Amino acid sequence: MKQRINLLIAFSVVALIVLSTVQCYLVKTTYDYKVAQFHTEIKNEIAKISNNYSDIDSVLVAKKEALYKQLSENYLQGKNNKADVKTYILENEYNDVLTQKIQRKFKRDLPNLKIDFAIVLNKFILYQSAKKADTIFSEKPFIQNKLYGNLASLNHAFLVRSYVGTSSGTFENKNYKLLTEDSMYVSVIDWEMIILGRMTFVLILSLLSILTLITLFVIAIKALIKQKKVNDIKTDFINNITHELKTPLTTLGISTKILERKDIRDNDENFNAIVNTISRQNNRLQSLIDQVMANSLAENGIELQKEKIETEDFLLTIVNDFKITYPAINIKTHFKTQKTHLILDKFYLTTALLNVLENAVKYGSNTITIKTNLIQNQFSISVEDDGIGIEKNKQSLLFEKFYRVEQGNLHNTKGLGLGLYYVDQIIKAHQGSVSVVSDLGKGTQFTILLKV
Ligand code: ADP
Repeated sequence: MKQRINLLIAFSVVALIVLSTVQCYLVKTTYDYKVAQFHTEIKNEIAKISNNYSDIDSVLVAKKEALYKQLSENYLQGKNNKADVKTYILENEYNDVLTQKIQRKFKRDLPNLKIDFAIVLNKFILYQSAKKADTIFSEKPFIQNKLYGNLASLNHAFLVRSYVGTSSGTFENKNYKLLTEDSMYVSVIDWEMIILGRMTFVLILSLLSILTLITLFVIAIKALIKQKKVNDIKTDFINNITHELKTPLTTLGISTKILERKDIRDNDENFNAIVNTISRQNNRLQSLIDQVMANSLAENGIELQKEKIETEDFLLTIVNDFKITYPAINIKTHFKTQKTHLILDKFYLTTALLNVLENAVKYGSNTITIKTNLIQNQFSISVEDDGIGIEKNKQSLLFEKFYRVEQGNLHNTKGLGLGLYYVDQIIKAHQGSVSVVSDLGKGTQFTILLKV
């Protein structure tokens, strides 16, 4: 059974991991798709705004073209080398002005987006009719080749468009053509948030589905473990009761056999000893049956016969009777209250307290201290012992029906796991509560709280 549950948990965990991975993959795919869609949208918007920037400032664009022409001719004359041409292009004086104008245009036409951009020059190639093309420079898009813009890096930017410009001229009666290519890169500030905003529905839905799955999984596993625990507890109970019944029955069997012998019957001393044993075992059987009966009654609810009692007196009577039964146990009282009148069922409360006191003896105590106190309008009775104590993780289970701490199942201490369950039922019937504090090896303290 345990192996099956572990296998089931392992399979469910794997299935959950696979499902979560698939879910993450789907979310990531949706995210990538949304990013691509967003880029296309921006490209289209920007394409609408500017074509070759002459619509932004035709004078500046004309100036730029004149500069390109001038530089080409200087180069053909041999006045400038390739490196000079590149430097002059990149350091032109209308750079800042055009950058500001494009920025303003973006702000006006795309007010909802904060856009950083860079226009980088990729190619500057001269064609002369007779000769082959003369490449002044041709490079991959590179932020150092920035003509205009406020972007400092192309890392998180995406390509919006490339613009190829051609112009022609005549130099020393020979025709030449100039080909330039520049690319616009754009980065939208907070674009991740924009995309996440568009994915809110998908994200919430997938998160909810995963959470629902995990919750269902946890509920199912908890129910399974509980079921297993109930089964284990029932098996333990059957083992315990069989064991408990066996001892008196065997003793009774042997005693009957002995009584059949005439020599024993004739000897008064031996006869009485055997009869005493039979009586003791009979009582033991009776008390076992009473315990089981009491608990099945508790199942149907306990009917209390309440009366007004002086609680401290009542406690002292129980303690004195207990001292007679267990003379070797040192039982102390420490009452912080006096003459507290409570309305209680004497019979049931005596049973509950005796169960706790007998447990203290059963589980290794030599000294038991009973204390009373008044805490926030509640009368507390605590029973402190110096016995074997109870592990922290077992304490919450103590009041469950048939529960015994494992080491108890070794039958080194007898019991059915019903005592504390019955205590809990009795105290609950009085609208009170019972709790436990314990340190393994140091002792245990049970506290019963009753309404004043
Ligand atoms: P049982 O018949 O086993 O005594 P109970 O319901 O009375 O059943 O107690 C449940 C379990 O709680 C016991 O098996 C024992 O392990 C633990 N227990 C109860 N009282 C004490 C105590 N005073 N000290 C240590 N362990 C205790």
